[in-house]
Amino acid sequence: MSKDYYKILGVSKESSDDEIKKSYRKLALKYHPDRAPKDNKKEYEEKFKEISEAYRILSDKDKRNQYDQFGQNFEQSNPFGQGFSQQDFHSFQDAFGGQDIFEDLGFGRIFEQMFGSNSRGRSRAKTQYGQDIVIDQEMSLKEAYQGLEKEIDLKKMITCDKCQGKGGENFKKCFSCQGTGYEQVSQQSILGLILQRRICAKCHGRGEIPEKECNYCHGQGIVNESKRIKLNIPAGIEDGQTLKLSGQGEAAPYNGQPGDLYVNIHIKSDKDFERQGDNLFHNLVINFSQAALGDKIEVPTLEGKVNLKIPAGIQSGEMIRLKNKGMASLYKSRQGDLIVKIQVVTPKRLSRQQKKLIKNLNL
Ligand SMILES: [Zn+2]
Ligand SMILES: [Zn+2]
Repeated sequence: MSKDYYKILGVSKESSDDEIKKSYRKLALKYHPDRAPKDNKKEYEEKFKEISEAYRILSDKDKRNQYDQFGQNFEQSNPFGQGFSQQDFHSFQDAFGGQDIFEDLGFGRIFEQMFGSNSRGRSRAKTQYGQDIVIDQEMSLKEAYQGLEKEIDLKKMITCDKCQGKGGENFKKCFSCQGTGYEQVSQQSILGLILQRRICAKCHGRGEIPEKECNYCHGQGIVNESKRIKLNIPAGIEDGQTLKLSGQGEAAPYNGQPGDLYVNIHIKSDKDFERQGDNLFHNLVINFSQAALGDKIEVPTLEGKVNLKIPAGIQSGEMIRLKNKGMASLYKSRQGDLIVKIQVVTPKRLSRQQKKLIKNLNL
């Protein structure tokens, strides 16, 4: 069964990496096996494994991207089997910056949340965000059947390759924020002193400033250019579905977090087939004698024509099912069917001779 990793972590598909990490931390602390009550050990262990697995996928940009596109099945689910794996605890350490949070659940943790730092060194503030891009991609039913790999050229803000997005060279520590990337503002309230932090306006959260700005991007680290992007549209995709390519939207200034690219899929209607889920329907018109006597008729499939045997005595409206000739299913490994709907045409104009013959048949 496909697991909803976002649901497991209590976040939404739009959640940022930071939000995902935050939510995972909360849950990981709650369900950490060391904290499980004696009579509830099993349940806590299961839960901890589940959230670790979800975090392992969603915290990895590529894996999250694949998961968004293809669901959980892109990866063998739960490769660790029984018990815990290294990976479970790697996720845990990773999310807590390598420090053992259980040693100081008090002041230390609050400090970390407020200032984004930990004992192992500061992770850079991701302060600038690139725009998301939404594009439309039209494709034929046959392309949806086979899957489509396509390269498109997209004009967008991309990382400046003259300075690799850094915006310049010879970086010096920002004196305005002492290299933290944040400015701290304190405010007195009835609840006491409230510390707030905001992005340093001087260095844009980088903590350092180039002595020499890049001429090409004017120090912003991004330029507006065309970029070739590879779309990999999986077989079985349906009209109206959207692919998400994480990080393929507009690049953000000052090496910030890039936006995402959303590809809305439009599948053109097909002259031979009507699609319903994974099944395809084809209307086959036959005449009265073919229906009465049976016949062999060529019918189209998405992989070329096949010979279909029409049994004698078939009625209008009956259906013949061609197994596994439909669409591949995006999430299950099964293939849909091609269903041929028979329509028998009753002749409208008959010669005197024909009328006589039919009458003599005594049907
Ligand atoms: Zn600064
Ligand atoms: Zn540049």
